[in-house]
Amino acid sequence: MVIYADNAATTAMSAKAKAAMQPYFDTIYGNPSSLHSVGQKAKEAIVDARRRMAAILNCEEKEIIFTSGGSEADNQAIVSAARIGSRAGKKHIISTAFEHHAVLHTLEALEKEGYDVTYLDVHEDGIISAKQVREALRDDTCLVTVMYANNEIGTVQPISEIGEICREKGVIFHSDAVQAVGHLNIDVQAQHIDMLSLSAHKFHGPKGIGALYVRKGIRLSNLIYGGAQERGKRAGTENIPAIMGMVTALEEAVATLDEDAKKTAALRDRIISGIEKIPHCVLNGDPVQRLPGNISFCFEGIEGESLLLLLDDRGVCASSGSACTSGSLDPSHVLLAIGRPHEIAHGSLRLSIDKSLSEEESEKIIAAVTEVVSTLRNMSPVWRDLQNGKRSFVIE
Ligand SMILES: *Cc1c(COP(=O)(O)O)cnc(C)c1O
Repeated sequence: MVIYADNAATTAMSAKAKAAMQPYFDTIYGNPSSLHSVGQKAKEAIVDARRRMAAILNCEEKEIIFTSGGSEADNQAIVSAARIGSRAGKKHIISTAFEHHAVLHTLEALEKEGYDVTYLDVHEDGIISAKQVREALRDDTCLVTVMYANNEIGTVQPISEIGEICREKGVIFHSDAVQAVGHLNIDVQAQHIDMLSLSAHKFHGPKGIGALYVRKGIRLSNLIYGGAQERGKRAGTENIPAIMGMVTALEEAVATLDEDAKKTAALRDRIISGIEKIPHCVLNGDPVQRLPGNISFCFEGIEGESLLLLLDDRGVCASSGSACTSGSLDPSHVLLAIGRPHEIAHGSLRLSIDKSLSEEESEKIIAAVTEVVSTLRNMSPVWRDLQNGKRSFVIE
């Protein structure tokens, strides 16, 4: 039996979400732009889905744009705010050094167009402070984009405080909340969030569908031109089965969010305590201000890729960080951002669990990690040098 501990990369589909999609393949397959009954039924479904999602985020229906996922929502939010800024002669953006690549690479593209981006340093605990945002604000700042929760180390940012500062200064505030939606309680009004990205496959919905919340009054720029779908801001025939699956999965996740978070966090803390018994390892990110399902460690004298392969052999699916960086030889930009030295950042492990994990499975994870770390260290020349004092430990 495989123990799946890579929910930050993607999640299994919920049975309810799958069932909710089926009618839109079988009978209600019409194009919502068609005037006949099959099309109109599909259109009603989208109206209903938008209403249900708006109720969860606490916004208006017209403030939601369905996208192909988190990456598209991030791109459209950032590019739109940049265009609004540029029309007002404001071309400064504030972000952080540990955003997802969907944000970082969009910002890099804007830098090539002449935008000036401040990347806030992340404290060793994996959190940036609202004070840092306040101090970085300039008269020409047009956008602050800070992720809600980090996908590698799970740390949760002070979003409400940052939102308050941005609202006070009249600067657009976007948050990539892909890791947070369905896992943490979010209220875009109370938290003064102007734009928020989410993605269904991170909360047991289907892949290839997400949404962007945009506060009314903020003019979106198109990434995709064409038909009048999504109020003309995102052309293309709507992916109705995926939209229905997404909303169903989201409702399911928020219905039991608090109790699920509590249960998952207890399992998380149990695994963290177990792994912490391994010598010369360190937990990445604040132990408390973190996602209920995130466990992230660095191990001295270990190479992350071998760790993953051996864990996989023992039936544990884990990750070294984000799915995008694994497989490349560069250490994670997130771990470097919190100050881990290169050789330590290479020995990283991310386990992202959910409520379906049993206590027995959590014990199996601890045993497998302990065993694999010890096996790899016994084979490692670096570890031998650390043992005989030719090299000194970075992690005490
Ligand atoms: C997964 C993820 C994304 C990308 O979402 P997709 O739907 O896969 O495009 C963006 N940001 C964060 C924080 C993520 O975890």
